[in-house]
Amino acid sequence: MYISLVRMPADGLKFEHKYQEGELETSGFEFEFIETPSLTGWVDPVGTDMRLRSDIRARLKVPCDRCLKDVEIDIKMPVDLLYSREDPGSGKSGEIELHSQDLYFDIYQNDQIDLDAMVLEQLELSIPIRVLCREECRGLCPQCGTDLNIEQCNCTKPVDPRWQALADIKEKLS
Ligand SMILES: [Zn+2]
Ligand SMILES: [Zn+2]
Repeated sequence: MYISLVRMPADGLKFEHKYQEGELETSGFEFEFIETPSLTGWVDPVGTDMRLRSDIRARLKVPCDRCLKDVEIDIKMPVDLLYSREDPGSGKSGEIELHSQDLYFDIYQNDQIDLDAMVLEQLELSIPIRVLCREECRGLCPQCGTDLNIEQCNCTKPVDPRWQALADIKEKLS
């Protein structure tokens, strides 16, 4: 979904959108949707830039870092972004001059803002660095893949290399 910036009213433009199942392509991202995102927000011109403020709500599933089980994450996040118009003459689209305000910057092209790209990027950024199904998750056995939360496997635990070195010395001495 795009917001058209053509004939933008001076006091901005409100928008609202509830994504349908399958409307956003999440392949290549860390998450999948349990509940597709809904957005409310507005865009208003700030000089030649466009400021976008929005609330994003969604429910995601993300694999546990240790056991890969789905972890549900509820998202309710405000975003406040500034979009600069891409300068078609410069030919360097990815480069954005940094402004002094502490705002996130992006660019828009063809007088429209790509809301889908914004939502996917913001959701990806909102996922915690470490996702665990529970703090004490025991994860999967690195050798056989058994879920150690459910059962114990018979693999021998890898020996700590420091202890191995000590065992080698002992063997030499005996
Ligand atoms: Zn886990
Ligand atoms: Zn094992």
